[in-house]
Amino acid sequence: MTNWNIIGHEWAIDFFQRSMANKRMAHAYLISGPAGVGKALVALRLAQVLNCESGGISPCLECRTCKRIERGNHPDVRIAGMATQTHGMKPEEAARQRDLKIDTVRDWQRDINLRPYEGQQRIFILHDAERLNESASNAILKTLEEPPPYATLILVANTSGDLLPTIVSRCQPLKLRLVPRAQITSALSEQLNVAAEDAELLAAWSNGRIGWALRMLNNPDELETRQTKLDELLSLATQPRSTTFGWAEGYAKAYRGGEQLAVFEMLELWQSWWRDILLMSTGCTTQIVHVDRRPELSQAVSQYHLVDIHAFIARLTSAAQQLRENVNPQLALENVLLHMPIVERR
Ligand SMILES: [Zn+2]
Repeated sequence: MTNWNIIGHEWAIDFFQRSMANKRMAHAYLISGPAGVGKALVALRLAQVLNCESGGISPCLECRTCKRIERGNHPDVRIAGMATQTHGMKPEEAARQRDLKIDTVRDWQRDINLRPYEGQQRIFILHDAERLNESASNAILKTLEEPPPYATLILVANTSGDLLPTIVSRCQPLKLRLVPRAQITSALSEQLNVAAEDAELLAAWSNGRIGWALRMLNNPDELETRQTKLDELLSLATQPRSTTFGWAEGYAKAYRGGEQLAVFEMLELWQSWWRDILLMSTGCTTQIVHVDRRPELSQAVSQYHLVDIHAFIARLTSAAQQLRENVNPQLALENVLLHMPIVERR
């Protein structure tokens, strides 16, 4: 039926297909969802179906147009976001970029009123829309108020951030949800020929973020780093505070050096570990992320007070929030360490 080549998000594809069939496409979409859930691919497929030479309600993924959009070199598809804004900058300079600026938006939507060069629609995809600052938001709002006839805007946003309500109300919203673990497992093993055991492990680790799972499939080194990082995080509990502050310093330095994403992923990884301990303690073991570390999790359940774990999970969330709000990274991370649950040997 479909040729969208997307794992999960069937309802979103179905929605687009019905809109295409009824010729009721919106002039602006807001695709939101957790990081790594597959938002970028959905946006890309939408750009393809709107311009595909087959003229169908699914992109053929074979024609020259579909292929060029896939490769990112179609003249009628323009993509911007934090990555394009920081392109060519030194890491420290890139690290200082907190929000999407008006110049980025202006450049992205310049000549938006022109007819398409080759395709039927000009597509403007803006990633990281939750990081639009006020003036940049207002620049987009102007376009949304008077939508150009040949343009479709696709804003892509992480659910964790904020967007002006006036922008949200002028877009067709599509909230992508986490993909069920069983679906990721079977897609990995059946469509991508991943060995069954590895597929199960990767699906569990992905925690419903199919985009993340696919990224890891292509970057096994990154997966190994993740394991090392988790070991390092777990060892923090048994180390003296003086040593752990060196850890905070290291991550703070990385953050300032432009590796913000790595720091956020570390916080998320740590959080997933503590959530697993909670799941283990309640007996809801089917949703455990770190399925390869069950013995360690069981042990941890008996070592900590649940109330401390709850508080620490909240602490990790607020640390990520503080970093987004430009709090000194070393202070934010040291603060996390100070509130790490203490082992209560029962
Ligand atoms: Zn096509």
